[in-house]
Amino acid sequence: MKNLWAKKDADIFFNQVRRLGITRQFADCVYASRLLGRETQLVQHGGGNTSVKLLAKTFDETPINAMFIKASGYNLDQITAEGFVGVNQSALDRLKTRTNMSDEFLIDALGQSRLSFSSPNPSVETLVHSFIPARYVFHTHPEAILALTNQKNGDELIQKATGGKTIVIPYVMSGFPLALQISRALKHNKDNNTIVVLKHGVFTFGDTAQDAYDSMIRVVANSEKFIRSTRKKLKTNPRKPSFKLENLAPVLRGALIPSSATEQRYILSFRNSPVIKNFLGFRNMSRLVKCGPVTPDHAIWTKPKALFLPSNCNSIEIVRAVKNYKRDYERYFEKNNRRYLGKKVMRDSLPRVIFVDGLGVFGVGESLEKAHIVSELAETFAAVALKSESLGFYAPASLRDIFDIEYWGPETAKLPEIKNSPLSGHVLVITGGGSGIGAATATRFKEAGAEVVIMDSDRKTTSALADNLGAMYLWTDVTDKNSLRLAFDKVVQEYGGLDIVISNAGAAWEGEIGTVPEKILRQSFEINFFAHQNVSQAAVEIMKKQNIIGKVGGVILFNLSKQAINPGRNFGPYGLPKAATMFLLKQYALDHGKDGIRVAGVNADRIRSGLLTDKLIAKRAKARGLSAVDYVTGNLLGREVLAEDVAKAFLDLALSKSTTGAVITVDGGNIEASLR
Ligand SMILES: [Zn+2]
Repeated sequence: MKNLWAKKDADIFFNQVRRLGITRQFADCVYASRLLGRETQLVQHGGGNTSVKLLAKTFDETPINAMFIKASGYNLDQITAEGFVGVNQSALDRLKTRTNMSDEFLIDALGQSRLSFSSPNPSVETLVHSFIPARYVFHTHPEAILALTNQKNGDELIQKATGGKTIVIPYVMSGFPLALQISRALKHNKDNNTIVVLKHGVFTFGDTAQDAYDSMIRVVANSEKFIRSTRKKLKTNPRKPSFKLENLAPVLRGALIPSSATEQRYILSFRNSPVIKNFLGFRNMSRLVKCGPVTPDHAIWTKPKALFLPSNCNSIEIVRAVKNYKRDYERYFEKNNRRYLGKKVMRDSLPRVIFVDGLGVFGVGESLEKAHIVSELAETFAAVALKSESLGFYAPASLRDIFDIEYWGPETAKLPEIKNSPLSGHVLVITGGGSGIGAATATRFKEAGAEVVIMDSDRKTTSALADNLGAMYLWTDVTDKNSLRLAFDKVVQEYGGLDIVISNAGAAWEGEIGTVPEKILRQSFEINFFAHQNVSQAAVEIMKKQNIIGKVGGVILFNLSKQAINPGRNFGPYGLPKAATMFLLKQYALDHGKDGIRVAGVNADRIRSGLLTDKLIAKRAKARGLSAVDYVTGNLLGREVLAEDVAKAFLDLALSKSTTGAVITVDGGNIEASLR
């Protein structure tokens, strides 16, 4: 590991932030935090924390010894001064005299020690930082140190790697117990500036940010050098996958749905880097996946054990493997919860990390973001466990210690809040989602918690919308089966499956039916009928695989048109394929109800959009002998129907568990176009 501290960069950074009232001492802490955060070998997601002790003032201008520490749940790599919480250092330092502390006391102490009540919560390791007298304290979970310390003789290995210049303390629970151990250790080693906590990580400190940073890089670089010089070469024999990712992922995703009554769905984030392939080809891999994470605080994301699936398992075996995992997790929970007199509440018993022999690893999460974090931590686990085995024998913290962190209130508070979103973990694909009804619908579903994929042929508008929404954009030609197949494969690769498809893309053609050229009619059928069929077929293929426990295949929704019921003059080329699509909807509902697939549609009319432009509105109004305003408000309710009204109808249909084969009319009321 290289030392990346550059005085010039630290100066530039300070000059950027000084106008915000940030002092040089504080700016150096932020600069160092970012350097540490960018080293993926040092800091995994949300891990690591940094602090600086400074003089500050209370609300009545009284000088106070303060400490500015990273807020809980923030990432170091992009951190700014706002990611730090000011706390009353003198008050926290006085807690050193205690011999024990309840979680409730710790939470109150950390909360009340904040200089501003509007600050976020300070890091769970605040007391450790507070009890170390040095001005700057940095804490990370470096892969090299974890490889050395997740060993039976971790202490000896660290001393060998660092020439005996490091304080090493045994693994101890985070929070007050760790702070107390560190404080005691420092009493006898006043000149030392590096503390390694076995099976957890490292703290370095100093009177300048550069000193503390230098110590961090030194201890990690020495550990890396030691590993390089002493490790044995591991024999790994990566096998060829016997599954295609696109075939396996939806089955696995379906197996993770606890029951058809459960609303929550999970996203699968897949990785198959060389490290993961080597891990899968390692002979002791099946023991390692049951050992536990490289540092206990990863367990809040990954759970203690990973699930391993052999390369040739079929769908029944996958369901059984998930069931066995759940039973094992429930046993682990009950056993350890007895120590807490049954007071802890189990989150869920599903696996979060799933290794598939020959193929790779899936991170499982309630959202794409969470699933990505889990798969990243799974990769760190594979890398560290392999390094550990090349030195000796991977032996992380015990399941008992892991449980204490996995169910420790201050630690779990780091997890992003699970919002009560009806579609969290659901994957939506919408075609023609770049503008008009499609864009309004994509937005509505995103608000409801869904992961949204927009397929559209208009790259410029749609990619901007997708960026804005935090959605995925895939260029797609819905009339080309090949283009659709690639796009749907990509959805499965990225999310693991698919829950809702809104086949929305369409285009309007006009012409008097007795004289319209055949070419126009066929063109319209391509996009207004066959494209719906192509999209539905691609979706059904994935949804059938996902329907492994029954009744959870998915939902297909069509954007129909009032033209399907009540033709407008000279609008046959548009209305005819739409009428056929309405029957397509019924056919899908009929043929695929058994696959747990619901099918429905929205019959919208006179909505301003890319398809029904102001120009076309004027023309259609003329065809009916109306003004443009009367045309758009000419309905029973006398109101213009908006794209958002249609979006709401799609969402209602997606959530209506017992509805299939249905069409909702969204037109402000038009009795001629109402369904019989
Ligand atoms: Zn830590």
